[in-house]
Amino acid sequence: MAEKQRFQAIKGTRDLLPPETALWNHVERTANEIFSTFGFGEIRLPIFEPTELFARSIGADTDVVSKEMYTFVENPGVSSLEELRHIAVQMYALHIKDGFPDFFLALIRSLIHLVQSKSQVRELEIGSQLQSDLERMQLILNEYEKLSSSEELHEKEKKSKLLSDLAIKIQLLRFSDRVSLRPEATASVCRAYIQHGMHSLPQPVKLYYTGPMFRRERPQKGRYRQFYQIGAEVLGGTDAPAIDAEVIEMVMTFFARLGLEGAKLDINSIGCRECRPAYVELLRAELVKVKDQLQPDSQRRIETNPLRVLDSKLESEQPVIEKLPRIAEHLCSACAAHYASVKHNLVLRNVAYHENWRLVRGLDYYMRTTFEITAPGLGSQNAVCGGGRYDGLIEILGGLPTKGIGFAIGEDRLILSLQEAGKAPAPRRLDVYVAWMGEKTYDTAVRAARALRGAGFAVELPASAQKFGKALGHADKLGARYALILGDDEVASGQWTLKTLSDGSQSKFTEPDLLAHLKL
Ligand code: ATP
Ligand code: MG
Repeated sequence: MAEKQRFQAIKGTRDLLPPETALWNHVERTANEIFSTFGFGEIRLPIFEPTELFARSIGADTDVVSKEMYTFVENPGVSSLEELRHIAVQMYALHIKDGFPDFFLALIRSLIHLVQSKSQVRELEIGSQLQSDLERMQLILNEYEKLSSSEELHEKEKKSKLLSDLAIKIQLLRFSDRVSLRPEATASVCRAYIQHGMHSLPQPVKLYYTGPMFRRERPQKGRYRQFYQIGAEVLGGTDAPAIDAEVIEMVMTFFARLGLEGAKLDINSIGCRECRPAYVELLRAELVKVKDQLQPDSQRRIETNPLRVLDSKLESEQPVIEKLPRIAEHLCSACAAHYASVKHNLVLRNVAYHENWRLVRGLDYYMRTTFEITAPGLGSQNAVCGGGRYDGLIEILGGLPTKGIGFAIGEDRLILSLQEAGKAPAPRRLDVYVAWMGEKTYDTAVRAARALRGAGFAVELPASAQKFGKALGHADKLGARYALILGDDEVASGQWTLKTLSDGSQSKFTEPDLLAHLKL
């Protein structure tokens, strides 16, 4: 007998079950209500996109793109080709081919052969680029064969040049597009803005989305590999500071409507292409001076991304970081004026904020305004919303120069915080349990259930007849407010019995009277 296999949800993913899903629905409905009062429309996006879209927008050197994305070849039939290609590239890189050029060449010949046979059985479509790459490789192989027996120096050099040409070709071969599960949605919204020519709509275009995101991180409370975000973007038009302030006001209004208490808004300006590079260099120079007081992660970041050192939560680094130069004192005059106006506009809107000069965001595309909102009850994973301005992004993705600002709320964390604070609304109760007895009453029971559900009541209609006592017990367990009792007497007289389960009282009603009574 086959062994029983128990499947479990994959690490870092989870099932969301009732009654908790009622809270998820409530949160999403509230987002929809609040965001539409600010003029935002919903966009629904694909879950996967070309890997290149994320590499280009988020930045190839960020943790998200370099370590956390779920990436795969679009056509799984080519994975064996990818592996062969990978071995050949490695052989060349590790100079293994120097000892065994024949083996390296045989590997490439088999690869070409495999590509051709896969194309014959239609597992692979050979596009024009791949076709010309293959032909070129074949030519190089032929040339190499002509040279093969001679050991003269210049012949050897020729051979080595041919091998290197082959290696370059093989490195560039692409059998299939690479796609990634989206780690965030801003890149997709920008892609859609360009793809659908939204720059010709009235500007700015205001869009919001909800849905799952995927990052391969270490799972812990408030950190999952499949998590959910609710986000919004304002694209096009101007970069008026009022837009930044209004977007932040919208998130705070949403949180307030949900009854989230103790949400704290941190803001910062991280400058623009004009002023940030000089500040980053200054920071780097100062960091180099205190390098030996920093831990390895921060030491590495001095080179790769000094701004990220400011993010450090390590106790021992805090006194060092406190003394570093602050970006606010190094903003260009346009950025300084923009930042001052964002703050003024927040005050106008009654939005309380804290300035946090260390707030830099993990994705490359941000500039000027950045913000983060933390909420209580979440331990160290306490950021529930991150956002900022990204004026250059659409252009990087091939569109016209376009202003942009947006945010993403971590819905999982928002919900955890609401639950910790006891802010989950009571899930909907069952209104009526139809306790029917005897086959003759069944058609009346079905009709009653239809009429009650049509009037908007939540109704449980048991699929088979039950004894009176058992039916009432079941109704109680389900938390029903009423039991509608339908026995032979009720059906014959047209007077239905309604039992209020909280106090056990009973009354008789005709069908129309019953609906009228329940609606009160
Ligand atoms: P963190 O610093 O907590 O890793 P982040 O800066 O990577 O957050 P963003 O990319 O700005 O996060 O995403 C916005 C929000 O999405 C975060 O504030 C957080 O609430 C949520 N979020 C990000 N990653 C995860 C995750 N792995 N699990 C659950 N929520 C997440
Ligand atoms: Mg992160």
